[in-house]
Parts: sequence; C-alpha cells; structure tokens
Amino acid sequence: MKHIFSKIGWFVKENWKTYVVLFLLLIAISLISLAPAYVLGLSIDTIVSGGLTKESLLMLVFGLGMLPLARYFLSFIYNHLSQKTAQTLTFQMRKRYLSHLFDMDSQFYEKYDKGDLIARITADLDAIAQAASSMLEGIIFNVGVIIFAITVMSLTISWELTLISVSIMPIALTILNSIRNKKRKYIKKHREIYADMTEKVLESVEGQKAIRAYVQEDNDLEKQYQAINNDIESWRYIVKFENWFNPLFEVVYGIAYILAFAFGIYYIMQQQMTLGGLITFVSYIGMLYGPIISISNIFAQINNATISVDRLDEIMQQQPIVHDEMDSKPIVTFESIEFKDVTFKYPFDKQPVIKQITFTIHHGQTIGIVGPTGAGKSTLIRQLLREFNVTDGQVFVDGLPIGTYKIEDIRNLVGYVPQSHMLFRRSVEDNILIGNPKASNQAFDRAVKIADFEKDLIYLQNDLQTMVGEAGATLSGGQKQRLSIARALVKDPQILILDDSLSAVDAKTEDTIIEHLKDFRKGKTNIIVAHRFSAVRDADMIYVLENGRITQKGTHHDLLRQEGWYKMQYIQQMTMSR
Ligand code: ADP
Repeated sequence: MKHIFSKIGWFVKENWKTYVVLFLLLIAISLISLAPAYVLGLSIDTIVSGGLTKESLLMLVFGLGMLPLARYFLSFIYNHLSQKTAQTLTFQMRKRYLSHLFDMDSQFYEKYDKGDLIARITADLDAIAQAASSMLEGIIFNVGVIIFAITVMSLTISWELTLISVSIMPIALTILNSIRNKKRKYIKKHREIYADMTEKVLESVEGQKAIRAYVQEDNDLEKQYQAINNDIESWRYIVKFENWFNPLFEVVYGIAYILAFAFGIYYIMQQQMTLGGLITFVSYIGMLYGPIISISNIFAQINNATISVDRLDEIMQQQPIVHDEMDSKPIVTFESIEFKDVTFKYPFDKQPVIKQITFTIHHGQTIGIVGPTGAGKSTLIRQLLREFNVTDGQVFVDGLPIGTYKIEDIRNLVGYVPQSHMLFRRSVEDNILIGNPKASNQAFDRAVKIADFEKDLIYLQNDLQTMVGEAGATLSGGQKQRLSIARALVKDPQILILDDSLSAVDAKTEDTIIEHLKDFRKGKTNIIVAHRFSAVRDADMIYVLENGRITQKGTHHDLLRQEGWYKMQYIQQMTMSR
C-alpha cells in the first residue's frame, strides 16, 4: 500500500482540496448509511415500551424517507468527483510515462518490445489508477463505516458483545491477505504473458499485408490463439485462488451472527440489553460484512497494482545513455565532421558492425557511401543522429567530440531520409511538414520540387490534402521515398542524408533528384548512401564500405582506376543496364 502511495503521493498533494471534500462526503454518507439501523432499534424499543405516538411515527417515517434521498444526492456528488479525480490521475500518469518514453534513446527501444511498452501504459497503468482510487476512497469509506459501526455498537449497545462478535473478523482478514500475497508471483507472470499477447497482436496487425501475401493467416491465427490461451490460463490460475478463499468470509460472517444472537439473547434474559438493541446490533453486523469484503477486494487490487507499479517503475527508472550534459554546447552549423577510429557495436550484439572507421566530411561536400548490403553503411551514417554512443574511437564536430553538443542541435543539423519510410495518419502536406512544421510556403514548394514529388501530386485525390497512412491512400514505394525526401528537405538541413533512399525510384527520377540536389543544395552537405553508382558518380568523395571497414576511397574516376569492389560492381551494373 505504501508502495502505491509513494507513486501517487504527488497527485494527492496536488489535489488535496478535492480529497478533503471527498473525505467529508464519505463521512456524511457513512453516517446516513448507519442511521436507519439505529432508528429501527429505537423505534422497536419505543413500540415495546408502548410509547409510540402518531406524531413520533410520522416523524420517523419522514426521517427514514429523507435519508435515502440525502444519500442519493451525496453519493452522486461523491461518485462524480471521485471518478473525475481517478480520470485525472490516469491522464497525468499516462502523460508522465509518454513524455518519459520520448526522452528515451535507441538502446531503450532495442531492449523493450513495443507490445510490452503498450501493455504497461494500458493494463498496468489502469490497475494502478484503479487501485489508487479504490485505496484512497474505498478504504477511507469502508474503514470509516467499520469504525463507526463498531463504536456505536460498543458505546450504545454492548462493548462485550461487540468484542465477541467482531474479533473473529480481523483474524480471517489476515489469513486471507497472507494467501493473497502468495499469489503475487502468478500475477507478475500474468502481466508478462499479457505483454506478450499485446506484442503478437501488434505484430500481426502491422504485418497483415505480409501475412496475407504469404497466405499465413491460419498460421498466424494459431499463434494468436496460443497467446490468448496462455493469457486466459494464467488468469484462471489466479482466479482459482480467489474462488477457494473468498467464501471463507461467509463462514466468518455466519459465526459472528451466531455469537451475536447467542450472547445477545443471554444479555436480554439478564436484562442487560433490550430487544431493539439486539436488532440494531445484528443489523450492524450485517453492515460490517459489505465493507470487510470491499476492503479485502481492495487489498486484492492493491496486490495486482503493486506488480504494475514495479513494471511501470522499471521503465520510469531507465535513463537514456545518450543524454545532454549540463554544459552541452549549442551548434547551428559546422565546418567539419571527423570520424576517428570509430568502432560501433549494437548494444545487444557481440560483434561490432563498423570497425576503426576514419574519415572527414567538410562542410559543403557531397559524400557517397557504397558497399555490399549489410556492410554497415546505414549504421555508420546514423552515428550522426546520436542514437547510440560509439563503442570506441570518436566522432568530432569542429574538433570537439560530438557528445559535447546538445543532442537536439546535432539532430537539427541533419535531414535524414531512412531506408524504410514512415507515413503518419495525416495529409500529405502534414506528413512533409513533420520535417519542419514552421516551414514557409516557399521552402515547402522548394522541398517538393527538389524531391521531384510535384509530379505525384496530380495523381492524389485531394492534392496535398490527401490523407495517407493506415487509414488513407496508399502511396507507391517511389512516392513514399519522394515524400520522405521532401520531408527532410523542408528542413533545409545543413547535412542531408539519403540512406539508400533512391532505391525505389526509377533511373530517370533518380537523375532528376540528383541534379536538383546539385542545383539547390550548393554550399550544403549531402551524404548519399546508394546501390546505384549513378547516384554517387558526382560526389566529392566516395567511400566503399565492406564488412564494416572502409576498403576504398576516392572520386568516381579515382575508384574506376583502382582494382576493387567499386570497379567490379560498376562494370557489372553497366553490363546489366545494357
Ligand atoms: P547496410 O546499410 O550496409 O546494409 P546496416 O548498417 O543496415 O548495413 O547493417 C549492418 C549490420 O548491422 C547488419 O548485419 C545488420 O543486421 C546489423 N544491424 C542493423 N541494425 C541493427 C540493430 N538495430 N541491432 C542489431 N544489429 C543491427
């Protein structure tokens, strides 16, 4: 309980006024709930003693009639306020979690599956919010009712009888809670199975085109069923515990009743208690049952939520390895970028992907990077995005290690067009403007022109306003590439990186884009990773990367004069294109 409270304490502090109002409402509702039994006892004693008058009867009926009405209104206000508070808590926790996810680096996303992260923000967060609101309200309310009922029972009726009948209840509650604690490890396992199921659903939805193309629907469904089945099985196991132990309350309750009746009748015979007193007393025991069951259920919820708190905490405790320092420097332009003996290994791999890379890029140059698939071209060039820290060596920008500068500034220098293109569920225009939402119309038109995307617009139903992404029109591979290039160009970046971004466009379009880059990006830096040599032919410097190492460098003409991969591949490409 402390565990959860420590996680939501900030929220209670921020909203303490609301909690005071909720608390007062609960006290009022508890008093109203307990009043009828008390009035009933008094009335019976008045009837037995023959003191009932017409006026007192009317007052009694009126009073009893007003109580439910008052309870209804107070409960309405209470429910409204408490649900609103619970929603606000969920919203704020989600906001914190999401903003934390945005702060995380690539290493974090290599470690956690998307499905797992989604499960934590949905199922786990809901469990916490639910337990938090039940804990704050439910426990206050139920404990309030119990304490009040026991106080009234012992002060106005008989403390001995109260002690005898209710002492058995905490014993049962303690036994039940210790059993529930044993259940924790199964709940933890269940959460992991749930995350696995979410991941599988996500994968199938994302990959539904490939699944259909390979007629793997049945196979995939089979895997889904298995995941769903695992989820249900693990939950069933947990529920079994509940089913075994919950009915124990009925037994406890029955014993409390029997004790109250037996001792109550004895006290009446001894003239230490009235009949009305016994009826009030027995009604109160009935009223204790509900709150005790509720408290037990709340403990079960808290039990579930504690595991969720740990799961969410695990994420919130993670700190990005790539992060800004207090004294990180700003940077808006650069003169040179130097890779010095750079070796890089992905966090969960054993072998480095690029090894002892040394080369320099000067401002305004166009650099070509070529080499076989899997050689590490993309990995090399992505070092400029500061996704990971290099494993060995250093990348210097204007003589200072790249880590000296603000990450955001370094990323702002770069317009990166990746190999796979991400379309968002927005209009074509908005998809391009992701590169720079504040771009002027002029900059926008220029980007569209350089990327040779203009010619695609006439095929789109609503021109730039055509919706794309999952729910919108589907663009061809080439169109997606051109849109992505326009997205990077709208930023007018200091460094444009085309990471094999021309693979889906035809040779003529590629030529047009390369020509446009030469015209429009004079004085800016371009890095072109390509398979076709026509894309890098005019680069100031071309590097050949093989198996993570630079094996050749020079201009197109230099490289054609050297024996090696470049010349061999060039001849092959020329022969094939004839
Ligand atoms: P290229 O761009 O030359 O085709 P990449 O840089 O994409 O090569 O990949 C180089 C190697 O790094 C490949 O063996 C690939 O499997 C591996 N690799 C790429 N991305 C990751 C990653 N995120 N985690 C682990 N290994 C990766």
